[in-house]
Amino acid sequence: MEEKLKYERPVITKINAGMPDKFGMQAKMPVITEIDEIPVKKLIEQYGSPSFIISEKTIRKTFNEAKRAFTSRYPKVQFAWSYKTNYLNAICKIYHSEGSWAEVVSGFEYDKAVANGIPGNKIIFNGPDKSKEDLIKATENGSYIHIDHFDELYELLSVSEKLEKRPKVAIRVNMDTGVYPQWDRFGFNYENGEAWNALNRIMMSEKMDLVGLHTHIGTYMMTPAPYAVAASKLAELAVRIERKFNHKIKYIDMGGGFASKNTLKGAYLPGKDTCPTFDQYAEAISGALINSDLDPNEMPTLFLETGRALIDDAGYIIGSVLANKRLADGRRSMIIDTGVNILFTSFWYEHEIYPAKEAGSHSEDTTIYGPLCMNIDIIRSAVKFPLLQKGDNYVIKRVGAYNMTQWMQFITLRPKIVLIDTKGKTHIIRENETNESLTSHEKIPDYLK
Ligand SMILES: *Cc1c(COP(=O)(O)O)cnc(C)c1O
Repeated sequence: MEEKLKYERPVITKINAGMPDKFGMQAKMPVITEIDEIPVKKLIEQYGSPSFIISEKTIRKTFNEAKRAFTSRYPKVQFAWSYKTNYLNAICKIYHSEGSWAEVVSGFEYDKAVANGIPGNKIIFNGPDKSKEDLIKATENGSYIHIDHFDELYELLSVSEKLEKRPKVAIRVNMDTGVYPQWDRFGFNYENGEAWNALNRIMMSEKMDLVGLHTHIGTYMMTPAPYAVAASKLAELAVRIERKFNHKIKYIDMGGGFASKNTLKGAYLPGKDTCPTFDQYAEAISGALINSDLDPNEMPTLFLETGRALIDDAGYIIGSVLANKRLADGRRSMIIDTGVNILFTSFWYEHEIYPAKEAGSHSEDTTIYGPLCMNIDIIRSAVKFPLLQKGDNYVIKRVGAYNMTQWMQFITLRPKIVLIDTKGKTHIIRENETNESLTSHEKIPDYLK
């Protein structure tokens, strides 16, 4: 009798490195030898390793792509730069020079916007943490206060009693847009009637000017459809206010959240192939507003607080390889001088990293570690990467959003940030930290001196 074949259970193993993109498998890793025509090697010699490099050309180009997508579809559009995404003054000023207002979420950011020369009536004040002093200042400056919760609403009501100016307010609305988990911790909920309740209280109080409606439905939204749902719900609220109070709001603010071309961890396809275009987001939002019951003769201005999708592509980290080494199981690993302390977004993105000069055509499954003496300091856990030697340079792409605000000083000092202007000239826009700059904030009690 023939022996029965032995059963073996099937296994599925995930390919970790060398994932194909829409053009198939990559035969050879591309190299990035220069940024805006300046050799990476020269930038490192001049500014140190690692350094952040920001391309002003890319900032302006991306901004104008987004602006065109929206202004070609909707009559009145106003962008407001999301400060927390990157609040280096030089960067904010580039967006302001393109006509962007400021969108801030704290008293600190508010003061930064004022110091950047932005008049109060071009500042949008969001977030759950606005002190009484913040509310007074924002009211007196004529800024747009986006109320987050009832405690803030009541505080603003009591503050407004004593002020000559009336606060200009909107409420932040959260809602079910079909994307889960729902972002319901900010603002007033639409479905349970809380948003409508807040709007009624504001209108009945007669102490504030209700000028807008705001939402920010999430971040890195991978499909445009939820924006259409959100825009319809805000339009519906605007129409209801008009019917009940004969009052027209001036703007609908759709917040930020458009995805950048970075690849999320665990995503099957690269972000640059899957992320929607500005045209697709604009089509969803403008379609919902235009098709709503809003008065076509007096459409509200569409505000956008886009952060990530506007700046991610403009930022790079350039640096050097510190060492190569084999792990216990034979895997190749490479240590570079960028750690998770300065590349905060590596916790959720598979950042693209490229050699800065022609490397061999042979590549190997590699783990790329940062320089920190800390186990979680991993920049890429598995990537097909050519062999670079100690001292060779690399470039990490799309680091413009959130890294320069969320980075931390941990173990190493934070590096310089360099802007390449539209004429190809370089400027330091933030100095590297030094021992002195850090210890200047420390104090030693007398008995320890
Ligand atoms: C963070 C934030 C933004 C910007 O979000 P992105 O995802 O970077 O576009 C806009 N509005 C508010 C209220 C925010 O908190």
